[in-house]
Amino acid sequence: MENKILNTVIIGSGPAGYTAAIYCSRAMLNPVLITGADFGGQLATTPEIENWPGRSDSPDGASLMDSLFNHAKKLGTQFVYDTVVSCSLKGEIKTLTLSSGEQLQCKSVIICTGAKAKYLECKNEDLYKGHGVSACATCDGFFFRNKTVAVVGGGSAAFTEALYLSSLCKKVYLIHRRDSFRAEKALVDKLKALTDKNVQFILNAKVDEYTGDGGTLKGIILDVDTNKQKLSLDGVFVAVGHKASTEIFKNDLELENGIIKTGYSYATSTSCSGVFAAGDCADDTYRQAITSAGTGCMAALDAVSYLEKH
Ligand code: FAD
Ligand code: NAP
Repeated sequence: MENKILNTVIIGSGPAGYTAAIYCSRAMLNPVLITGADFGGQLATTPEIENWPGRSDSPDGASLMDSLFNHAKKLGTQFVYDTVVSCSLKGEIKTLTLSSGEQLQCKSVIICTGAKAKYLECKNEDLYKGHGVSACATCDGFFFRNKTVAVVGGGSAAFTEALYLSSLCKKVYLIHRRDSFRAEKALVDKLKALTDKNVQFILNAKVDEYTGDGGTLKGIILDVDTNKQKLSLDGVFVAVGHKASTEIFKNDLELENGIIKTGYSYATSTSCSGVFAAGDCADDTYRQAITSAGTGCMAALDAVSYLEKH
């Protein structure tokens, strides 16, 4: 990329980043968007989106995100297919260092780095990650066709994953540590309707450890109502929430429980002037595709207003 000071760099290619790019492009800021390793963000890995306004046809996440990418591209956003590994955000001119070693300098930054799946951190998890333990049913479900799997978690992601797997697998257990769910009621009802088919709920249960032969997962040991129980499984899909991807900003920005604090001089401004944050990296409450897109729009408008004054 040409060595010049850019108006705005957007970090992240999820719904927040693409929406910020659309608005910044239309405001003639000539934005550059750094995609990160997870092109399209979290939504790109989900099979069906039922709540994106105007899309009652329930598109898959990858094609929905492709349409946002194409929209931003058509309006002139430049894309850099790399990851930001470090940054210096405090001065008037911000510097972002990419994994290639290239450095970008800019007057404003819009951070849309979203969140990454959490794991259970119980015994043998690292041993079986990629060998039976996964955090993405759309990516890995195919390997478990006609097999027996479990999904761990009680949120909408766990139910989405379990519903998807129920169409591929012989048997799907939904394992949750409580007996009530955070998941959207519509998803819970849909999965409950499959309990007379191939879905079984195991509630008030915690995974104690993964078991296997060291190379392939064979099952788990559960703590159910304080009793130990063995369960034979071919795969486990962990869906126990996400952690904001904000590690590289912790020296420059105020964070709260890992979430970027916003609401300083503008709704989306961070503790560093000229740096804005949108989507799941700055939100511990709503965490939806549409709220991420909405705050991406707000961050772009805030950046435009900031650049007009500076
Ligand atoms: P993300 O989508 O998390 O994207 C973050 C982006 O930042 C990625 O492109 C990543 O590569 C990039 N990035 C991270 N770090 C760096 C870095 N250092 N340098 C450069 N780039 C970086 N919401 C709904 O509204 N409806 C649904 O049906 C729905 N289904 C879901 C299903 C699943 C399985 C999951 C996990 C989530 C689902 N969600 C759904 C939630 C929704 O996906 C998120 O709220 C939304 O994707 C957040 O958007 P975002 O733009 O903030 O970040
Ligand atoms: P979430 O709503 O935070 O749910 C995480 C679940 O994992 C909770 O049920 C939690 O249990 C459980 N959990 C957390 N840590 C655990 C541990 N160590 N061991 C066992 N269980 C653990 O996260 P999510 O399901 O990933 O959803 C994230 C966001 O994306 C939400 O805002 C959601 O609405 C959105 N989303 C929406 C859709 C949709 O609209 N269709 C689909 C997917 C995701 P407790 O309940 O006991 O805390």
